Amino acid sequence: MSAEPLPGDGPADPAPAPFLRPSPTVRPGPRRLAPVRPVPAPPTTPMVRPGRHAAPDPDDGPAPSAAPVAPPAPAPPAAPPAPPTPEADAARRVREAWEEVGPQVDELADWFAALLFSLDPGSRALFPARVTEPARRLLRSLVLAMSTVDRPADLAALLEPLVREHRALGLRAEQYEALGVALIGAMRRFGGVAWDDAAEHAWVRAFSLAAGPMEDAARAAGDAAPALAEATVVGHRRVGWDLAVLHVAPDRPVPHRAGQYLTVEIPQRPRMWRALSPVTAPRPDGLLEFHVRAVEGGWVSRAMVAHTATGDRWRLGPASGRLGLGPRSDREVLMVAGGTGGAPVLALCEDMARWTRPRPCTVFLGGRVPDDLVVLDRLRALAEVQPWLAVAPVCEDDPLDPETLPGTLPDAVVRSGDWSGHDVLLSGSPGMIRATAQALLVDGVPLDRIAYDPFAQ
Ligand SMILES: Cc1cc2nc3c(=O)[nH]c(=O)nc-3n(C[C@H](O)[C@H](O)[C@H](O)COP(=O)(O)OP(=O)(O)OC[C@H]3O[C@@H](n4cnc5c(N)ncnc54)[C@H](O)[C@@H]3O)c2cc1C
Repeated sequence: MSAEPLPGDGPADPAPAPFLRPSPTVRPGPRRLAPVRPVPAPPTTPMVRPGRHAAPDPDDGPAPSAAPVAPPAPAPPAAPPAPPTPEADAARRVREAWEEVGPQVDELADWFAALLFSLDPGSRALFPARVTEPARRLLRSLVLAMSTVDRPADLAALLEPLVREHRALGLRAEQYEALGVALIGAMRRFGGVAWDDAAEHAWVRAFSLAAGPMEDAARAAGDAAPALAEATVVGHRRVGWDLAVLHVAPDRPVPHRAGQYLTVEIPQRPRMWRALSPVTAPRPDGLLEFHVRAVEGGWVSRAMVAHTATGDRWRLGPASGRLGLGPRSDREVLMVAGGTGGAPVLALCEDMARWTRPRPCTVFLGGRVPDDLVVLDRLRALAEVQPWLAVAPVCEDDPLDPETLPGTLPDAVVRSGDWSGHDVLLSGSPGMIRATAQALLVDGVPLDRIAYDPFAQ
């Protein structure tokens, strides 16, 4: 089916932009002290993989020694706060320096890409013609991971999808070194007055701590399964000016669990990978259904909604995601979904309908207007035959259906009950997830019972 372009749509393929040299538009900002260096100097500290050949770090402080015997004292003075660990210090410096970059992030991304391509010419083929946006996304996820090197559980949770996305992009384990050198080179250029030897040292340390497990995971995953599957679009239906329902038939089954998302690449936007959540639980015929909302100014979602046609060939990356219902808990379940965030929620409910003992589950599906509640009819149909499932639609503007709750999702959820004993899954925009998680935390739901995959990086 052909589709008319969206208002203000860009061309089907972005025009090539000059990027193979550091962007000529880069201007030194007022904070910057270091002279501009067009050729990357290697970082002052080598990228050392901890635990392999790492020598003791002089910044780590003295080696532990036997504690001196304290003289007896009636009231010992309060112990001074323990100094931050090197990991905590590195994570803090990563956050602080990244905040300093602020509005210059696009220029930094261009600079980073130029350095990366000069260090590793093969990496050029992994990026589309216009490199700023994918380079910015790559840097953001990398820096986010680096800012958690002091929290191993968070780091592991961030690295897993990152590695999968890198594999879909085609990035190999051997290329991480060049990635790190380009990142540090770009930070040296854009880090401003706060960027000094200590900052550089901390960034190298954080990158090494994050890149080590990433390389290991990439190598392990590389042997396990191919990164990609090809697929054909067999259905494309516009159900609103900014919303499309797509059916995609993979050439071979793509292993995934209900609630997970896949990264996809479409021919109209080569090498711009985006996450999409299948709407149904995995089907025997492997067919995938996606609901795509065109976001304002979005490169890929607009093309998916407006320019996709049946017969298009897509590439699919491996599945990932934190939404799921493990067998280890028998608590009741609360699912809260906004707009197209209903996709993984419907998939999970369909999956639970196949269980012998499904867990009691309440779904709140919210949107601004009734048309946003795309999967409502299917959830209601399921609830009619599955007594463990209750569905509550929520609409901010003008709810026509008397059963629809008015207001925003967090308000409606908190007003409707006590969820402190539930496992909670949240799916939708980052803003909706943040607001709902905050409201539930205030209401007594423990943080470790709230799982979510925000629908944007
Ligand atoms: C785990 C996960 C699952 C997802 N599942 C789906 C899905 O099933 N269906 C679907 O339509 N999308 C889904 N997304 C969102 C999708 O991957 C893209 O991020 C989204 O389509 C925007 O891509 P774009 O290239 O058009 O926008 P970009 O060019 O990347 O961004 C353009 C602008 O839009 C903003 N933006 C990006 N994403 C969103 C968003 N979701 N809401 C509001 N503003 C946004 C950006 O900050 C930026 O300002 C999912 C995302 C994640 C992380």
